[in-house]
Amino acid sequence: MLQDLSFGTLDNQYKYQLPGEDDIAVCIRGGEILVRRDENGLLHLPTVGEASLWLAGWQLWFDEPFRYAFTMQEKRYFLYFGAAGDCADERYAYIPAAKLREPASRDACHAMMTAWHIYCWYRNNRFCGRCGAPTKHDDKERMMRCAACGNMIFPRIAPAAIIGVTHGDKLLLSKYANRNYTRYGMLAGFIEIGETAEEGVAREVMEEVGLKVKNIRYYKSQPWGIAGNLSVGYYCDLDGDDETITLDKNELSMAEWFSRDEIPYEDEGISLTGEMIRMFQQGKEPR
Ligand SMILES: [Zn+2]
Repeated sequence: MLQDLSFGTLDNQYKYQLPGEDDIAVCIRGGEILVRRDENGLLHLPTVGEASLWLAGWQLWFDEPFRYAFTMQEKRYFLYFGAAGDCADERYAYIPAAKLREPASRDACHAMMTAWHIYCWYRNNRFCGRCGAPTKHDDKERMMRCAACGNMIFPRIAPAAIIGVTHGDKLLLSKYANRNYTRYGMLAGFIEIGETAEEGVAREVMEEVGLKVKNIRYYKSQPWGIAGNLSVGYYCDLDGDDETITLDKNELSMAEWFSRDEIPYEDEGISLTGEMIRMFQQGKEPR
């Protein structure tokens, strides 16, 4: 999956530090991120030195232009906080964040999605949600503090369930309604305030396809920074033998049962959904 680095680790503990020319710069403009395309067409994030060619004259949001994000595979990543300009060099471009999955290495993709998640948290917390005053970064940990009212704002992660509904030799696959992403997936949804993850799984299945489930069992989790999520994967069994689906057409364009050898899906090695479908195909899902 995305987070399984080919070497090294992710160290995401916050420490105050300033960037050097060779550190990695994460420059985001609206829903796009600044990347460099190499000779083979693969995407990389620019270094601070490269990116600084494009940063001059930009207007800063915070008191300092760069904020340390994390260290991954011995490289330090810094978020750039400023309104972005255009870049005239054709090796560099802003691309939509939704397109990060395809042309980058899996390691680079994980770095970009993680940086994206942290960046969006900063962007959304420039002002205190309680009193409206501007916030300032804490000296010691990743936290925005409001000097006016004392509010302390920590990074937020939204848990979202990925749900493999099974019935004997069959798995329920679905496709989203009204989205660019048109591949098969599985049912998914946010855990709501006040419920357990397992209750969220049962509720989502009932809402989206009108089925009752039992034997809800945890599989694995995965950070999914592009949406600010932690995906938590569960398998569950249909309760009873009635496979009739009542589709929530606002959420899904289709949902169908597929037996193990009929599943029309190839795991890209990125998402928890992909791995869970593959585990079922191979009969290796937890029972
Ligand atoms: Zn406040």
